[in-house]
This record gives sequence, structure tokens and C-alpha cells, in this order.
Amino acid sequence: MAQMSTQQPKSLAVLTSGGDAPGMNAAVRAVVRTALDQDMDVYAVYEGYQGMVDGGERIRKMSWDSVGGILHQGGTAIGSARCTAFRNREGRLQAARNLVTLGINSLIVIGGDGSLTGANLFRQEWPELLAELVEQEKISRETAERCSQLAIVGLVGSIDNDMFGTDMTIGADTALHRITEAVDAISSTAASHQRTFVVEVMGRNCGYLALMSAIATGADWALIPESPPNVDNWEEKMCQVLKVGREAGRRDSIVIVAEGAQDRNGNPISSNYVKKVLEEYLGQKARITVLGHVQRGGSPSAFDRYLTALLGHAAVLEILSATPQNEPQLIGIRENRIIHSPLMGCVEQTHAIAGVIAAQDYEKAMEMRGGSFKEAFRALRTLVRALPHPPTPGQKRLRLAVLHGGGPAPGMNTAVRAAVRLGIDNGHIILGINNGFQGLIDGDIDEMDWMSVAGWALRGGAELGTTRKALTGSDFYAIARHIEEHNIEGLLMIGGWAGYQAAYRLYSERDNFPAFNIPIICLPASINNNLPGSELSIGADTALNNIMEVVDKIKQSAVASRRCFVVEVMGRYCGYLALMSGLATGAERVYLHEEGVTLKDLQKDLAYLVDGFKHGKRLGLMIRNENANLFYTTEFMSALFEEEGGDLFDVRHAILGHLQQGGDPSPFDRIQATRLATKCVEFLIEEAGKTPAAGAFIGLQTGKVQFFNLEDFPRMVDSAHQRPIEQWWLELRPIAKVMAQPGPQSQEGVT
Ligand code: ADP
Repeated sequence: MAQMSTQQPKSLAVLTSGGDAPGMNAAVRAVVRTALDQDMDVYAVYEGYQGMVDGGERIRKMSWDSVGGILHQGGTAIGSARCTAFRNREGRLQAARNLVTLGINSLIVIGGDGSLTGANLFRQEWPELLAELVEQEKISRETAERCSQLAIVGLVGSIDNDMFGTDMTIGADTALHRITEAVDAISSTAASHQRTFVVEVMGRNCGYLALMSAIATGADWALIPESPPNVDNWEEKMCQVLKVGREAGRRDSIVIVAEGAQDRNGNPISSNYVKKVLEEYLGQKARITVLGHVQRGGSPSAFDRYLTALLGHAAVLEILSATPQNEPQLIGIRENRIIHSPLMGCVEQTHAIAGVIAAQDYEKAMEMRGGSFKEAFRALRTLVRALPHPPTPGQKRLRLAVLHGGGPAPGMNTAVRAAVRLGIDNGHIILGINNGFQGLIDGDIDEMDWMSVAGWALRGGAELGTTRKALTGSDFYAIARHIEEHNIEGLLMIGGWAGYQAAYRLYSERDNFPAFNIPIICLPASINNNLPGSELSIGADTALNNIMEVVDKIKQSAVASRRCFVVEVMGRYCGYLALMSGLATGAERVYLHEEGVTLKDLQKDLAYLVDGFKHGKRLGLMIRNENANLFYTTEFMSALFEEEGGDLFDVRHAILGHLQQGGDPSPFDRIQATRLATKCVEFLIEEAGKTPAAGAFIGLQTGKVQFFNLEDFPRMVDSAHQRPIEQWWLELRPIAKVMAQPGPQSQEGVT
């Protein structure tokens, strides 16, 4: 339990303000449920600051159930507004009166920099506002003393991802989903008719959505506010790239423009202007699609649901530990962990970036956006090239090979595309090995050219093919022969467990087979997220979104009857997909192999279900990892609950199977695949020819790209269960429980 300050017990209010963003509901839900878990009174202020000024029905006490059924909804269920009254002291005086009358002395604000600035001002004025209310005899002195300080905590809801103090704002990942869905759709029709499109996306001062969606969709060009084209004749350059691309075989041309795009002199670049330029230069009609509010809408992505659960939870704990002297904090995510930063410092920095852009100091603007933004921009500039730079005369042209191993994971193609293009652009030769390690044994190897990976950024599955081949004695001879025959000087394995194992075998057989003395690097691509050295593997985010979408539907289907669903998800022995999909869908219980399942657990869960359905519960949802327990299978658990539940409820099970592996990769998987593949190719180029040759696996560790020695692979894994020894996400289990297990007052229980 967090440390309590002197003003106990605290009553908390939560509001959403400013522009709405998908995921705000999940944040409100998390705040309410965590506060209830901490025995606090919790209120929701409806319609943003306007509701705080109006009071009455607009400030409502919340129960466990009042935030049920909103997790999957876009927008904000408690409403948001822009409120002029709150900008005036008179309005804030009224708002303070409404809060203090209910005994509320802490506030969690979910909004953009404007809303957070307003909250900070309110907090600063609070003692004076209360004194004035006492003087006017609108509140008693005792009431004022009970709430003498206002604690505030901010969460950033904004689809633009434009706020300092957090790597991701609530809603940005969902907006990227909407944009990539739209651009994927546009590019298929554009390709059919060989058309040119200009797509305008949101982002007045922040090019995040434009840049990342261009990487994710394989667009031809992106214009962002932070880094305008650095030449005066950029129009000509852009058109030249599009023209050469067409000549090289591209069928569609797509330019993504952030709404705040500008040129080096600070003149806005509108989508209309880009269209005009393209039409004049290419002599062909160009079409504009302004995505507008579509980007704000729709059901939140898995990331925007589970991240917000963690943020909302942390915000309440911050309120509990805050003392009046503490500066108000903003809760965000940095390097895949929840962090706290001084709220107003973040607001000031956010304004500072806007100021730097306005002052045309673009270098500084890119600097302030941070390393991965800059890297992404650099990668984009290579990937969009219509054709590679020709090799430098006299340079050593390496022959680097790429292959897969393990099950297919969405994002594999994206990674291959980035590797091929970066390698070729640096003057090297890239060989594609078909069918994973079996292809290396068979010598099924082709040279890949620039256009051979056109359209791969968004394609699910694995075009090169993948197998779960485990290498045995005679395989090594065949592999050594083909490495020598093809003169392979570096190997990139993009895949999962079986691929890592095979790469490790090659690495450890180097003394026996000199041909294996080449740099080898593994890139984690597996929906199971069970690879060492990487907190997230490529494909897991897509799988999580696939699971979430199906479970949302399953839940809807069950509304009409009193039913409990047991849903089985993949992951082998790794419970990542089960736990995170549980968080994203509001499952009451997740069963993980890491925790085990006992008969006692099942009895307890059954008693809980029986009790819930007796008291009006309509839906139960349990998520089970496919190997949670060898004997207590999904069918067994369903049968047990069905039989013992009697007439109170019925039970259905759903084994989601391969749909989890399918579909187009999510934007996150595409972006990370590109980022990691770029690093892997740079690694192979750097290490080629050195002795002894390096063996490594790359990963995302606390949000950063890191390399690990392949030699450490066995030490870092529990090989019997094919998962890393350390799994960061296990820490999230208590939070998942707080979100999922209703208190005694709940009627409905789930969601
Ligand atoms: P966002 O929070 O998305 O940046 P706005 O800037 O429109 O959106 O702010 C939302 C609301 O927050 C405003 O309508 C107003 O009620 C309040 N607000 C914003 N800035 C201030 C301020 N400087 N002082 C008081 N209230 C403010």
C-alpha cells in the first residue's frame, strides 16, 4: 500500500478534458478500480472542466460497475469539453466549491497540455479559492480545512503523441492503427489504377503520426514539421523519387503530410500544395485524402488498453503518496516502464518544442524529439528511395543472407524489407534463403533486389517461408557447403525459438565447421514473446490485437445469455499473450503456466463464478494460456464450470488457434521490425570479416535496442519451457488482478 499523507482519507475525482483520445475509457476504468481497491471514494467529473464548474449531476460517485463495459469503447464515456468558464477565476471558484462540498481533495486529469496547465493553475489557486469560499460563507471552515490542499496528477490523452514526459500518449497507438488501416486500403486501390495519393494526417507540431505511418505503410514520402526537406527544390526531388519509383515498377505513390508540415522557411506545406506539385511534375492526377477525425475514433488498440491500465493505476498510487509540498506529477511511459515527471516541466518542454519549430531551428527540434525519432526518420529516408545508391567504386560488397526460423510472425516481411533495402543501399548483396534453415540445407537461396520487397512492409505471413527445423549432424555439412558456395559473409535470422536454437547451434559448431565463422545475428520475431534479451518480439503486438478483437466479439455474443467463456490463447509456455490480452479485454482470470493451475484455484474460481452469477452477473471471461496446465485443459475447465455451475450459467470455450498468427502486422510491429532490422544489418556490416566472428541476438530492452552475445542464449532461457528466465511482464500481474476482481459491491463483475 502506498504511503498515506496527512489529509486522509482522500477522495478522488477523475476527468477527461480537451480533445478525446481512444484509451481514455481504459484510463478512467483503471483509476476508478484502483481507487476503490485503495478504499478511496472516487468520482467522475462528466464533460471535462465544464462538469466541474456545473457540479450537481455532473460529478458522480463511481462504483466498480459504473466503469464496466467501457474498455473497448473509443472516445470517452464520461465526456470531454473545451470550457471557457474554467479559464476564468470565477469558474474555478465555482469548480472548487463543487469539489470541496463533496470532500474531494485530489484530481486526476486526463488530457492534453492545455488541460494539464489548467489543472496546475487550479491547484496553485486552491487555498485562496477555499479561503474566498469560506469568506463568502459558501463552505464551512471545517470543510475547507478537510481539503486544504489539492493533489493533482496528469495523464496525457492525445492522439498526436506530442507531449514531453512520455514516449507514448494515450490514443497515439490507436491513431496509428487507424492511419495504417486507411493508408493500406488506399494503397491497394492506388496500386490497381497506378494512382498518386496525398494523405494528410494529424499533428500540428509533431510529426510522429506522419513519420511512423510512412514507415509502417511503406509510403513514398513524408513531410513533418520537425524536419522540413533540407533543400530548396524539395518539390522536384520528391517528384523525381516518385517518378523513378514508378519506372522501377512501383504501382502506387503515396505522400503522407502532417497537418503542421512546413518548409525550411516556415511556410506551411498543405496537402493541396503537394497535390498541385505532383500533378504539375508528373502530369497525372493526384488525389487527396484528409483522414481527419477518423484518426481519433474507434476502439482502442491493445496497447492503448493495457498501457492505460498501468498509467491509471500508477496515477492513483501517486495521489496517495503525494504530499502538499510535492510538485504535481505527470505519469507517462519511458523505455517501456511507467515514469513520473514534474507536470509543469513537461508542459513547458512541450511548448518549447513548438517554439523551436516556429523559430525554424529544426536541428534542435529533432534533438528534442529524441534518439528513436531521429533514427526512424533516417531509416525512412533510405526505405523510401526509389532505387538504391549505386555501390561506391572499389568498395567491398558483402554477401549477406537473411532467413527465418520458427513459426510465422506478422512483421517478418517488414523486417526483411528493411534489411534488404538498407543492405543494398550500402552497396552490399542480399541473399534470401527460402524455407528457413531447411532452405539453407537445400541451398534454396536467391539474390534479392530493391523491388523484390516492394509492398512487403504491410504484408502478414513470411514471404521467404519459415520452418521449425531443428538441426542435426548431417545438416551441418550441407549448410557449410552452401555457405561456402554462395560465399555468405553474414547471416541474419529473423524468427522465433527454433530459429534462435538453430543459430546458436551454428555458432557453437564453429570450431568444427570453419564456414560458420561468419557474423550471425538473430532478430526476435515470434507472437509468443518468449525470446531472451527482448521485452517485446515482433508479432506479439499483432497477435495481442488479434486476440483482443475476437474476444471483444465473443463478449458481445454472450451479452444475451448468462454465460462464462474460457478462451485459450497461444504463447507456448509463455503467458505474455494471456496476461496482456486479459488486461486488454477485461478478463477476470488468466491462467498462466508460470503460476500453474491447481484444483484449489479452479474451485475458488468456480465459487467466485457461482456467487457472481447468483448476484446478477451476466458474463464471465477467463483466458487460459495453451499450456497453463497439461491436464486441466481448456475443455476440462469448461466442463468443470459447466457442470458445477448448474442452471446458473452456461460455459463455452474458444480456442483461438492460428488466427492469432495471421493478419497484417500492427503499426508497432512494423515500426519495430524496421528499427531492429536496420540495426542488424549495420551489425553484420560492422562485424563482417572479423575473427572470431560475432554471434548475437538483438532486442528491445527497456525500450532501447540492445545486443546480446549468442553464447549467452542457453544461460538466459528456461529451455525446458522455451522462455526467458526473466520475464518483465510478470510484475504486472497484481495490477491485472486489481482491474479484474470486483469488490463485494459489484453486480456485473466482468469487463
Ligand atoms: P488539450 O487539453 O487537449 O490541450 P485545450 O487546450 O483545449 O485542450 O484545453 C482543454 C480545457 O482545459 C480548456 O477548454 C480549458 O477549460 C482548460 N484550460 C486550458 N488551458 C487553460 C489555462 N491556461 N487555464 C485554465 N484552464 C485551461
